[in-house]
Amino acid sequence: MESQKSILIIYTGGTIGMMLNPETGILDPFNFHQIENEVPELRKLGHKLSAIQFDPPLDSSNINPDVWVQLAVIINDNYEFYDGFVILHGTDTMAYTASALSFMLEDLQKPVIFTGSQLPIGMLRTDGKDNLITSIEIAAAERNGHPVVPEVCIYFENSLFRGNRTTKNSAENFNAFKSFNYPPLALTGIHIKFNFPNIHYPEKKAPLRIHTKLVKEIAILKIFPGMRENVLDAVVNIKGLKALIIETFGAGNAPNYDWFTHKIAEAVKKGIIVVNVTQCNSGHVDMRKYQTGVELYKAGAVSGYDITTEAAITKLMYLLGRGYDYSEVIEKMNESLCGEISLTDVD
Ligand code: ASP
Repeated sequence: MESQKSILIIYTGGTIGMMLNPETGILDPFNFHQIENEVPELRKLGHKLSAIQFDPPLDSSNINPDVWVQLAVIINDNYEFYDGFVILHGTDTMAYTASALSFMLEDLQKPVIFTGSQLPIGMLRTDGKDNLITSIEIAAAERNGHPVVPEVCIYFENSLFRGNRTTKNSAENFNAFKSFNYPPLALTGIHIKFNFPNIHYPEKKAPLRIHTKLVKEIAILKIFPGMRENVLDAVVNIKGLKALIIETFGAGNAPNYDWFTHKIAEAVKKGIIVVNVTQCNSGHVDMRKYQTGVELYKAGAVSGYDITTEAAITKLMYLLGRGYDYSEVIEKMNESLCGEISLTDVD
């Protein structure tokens, strides 16, 4: 029998806590006590549950870096009082928030599990009940007196993923998230089967430190065949731009027309950090494979390896917020700070 744990549930909003308004046909948010009423099983879990609720609850499309800071502060303020945290969040931008928090919560030693649902918790076929109950169980799980998953994660359907490896993959399926480049940290069926070798365990026991300065002067440009020169021009000339993520083809390739390479090189010369992230769901950037990648490399683009776009943008916001200079940011983009990239695949 597991010992009783104390878990803080932070309800930010999202479909999980919404109800269909019969008059408007739109999903309206309801409060956490209504969620508790819909899931009486929560009382049977045997853990001490407390909740903080955002007022008003937010559709996750409206969640921004200020909310990430709010979440980091809530976790920090409550860190010593709870064994684990469950964050209820809309699915649309959950992977961004989870990625951001993985960087902002330095030396995290306790579970922070994000979950939500595709169908509101009050609906008969809801996926929200299982997602919520299992997330609490995962946040409470311990082994040899230590939390089993001391990481920022997303739990959805039957998989627990590292938050900064996760992407929303389906607007329809209960299985809404995927982690294409890193194995699940747990799979759930009759049992919760943890994938221990893939879970990160901190080497040192250090107090949690939160980083709450995030720089937003970043752009993402998804390239496409036929993209006009003036599109790239407009983006690299954004006033105050500090970093640009280019979503490239395949293993990190982009057109090697003179104007394209030249404008990227110019941007790099101006001090804009250009990060090359692949448009493919799985696999990694290797700018040495094709001439179209080599040219980007020569122009000064830095490899994103197998990073998700969500993790790339939040990592840049975090690194720039730490006040690192150009070369330090580049150096850290080439390092895995909290398991967001695999360097082992790269020879
Ligand atoms: N629009 C909702 C949100 O992200 C969708 C969901 O929760 O699944 O807040």
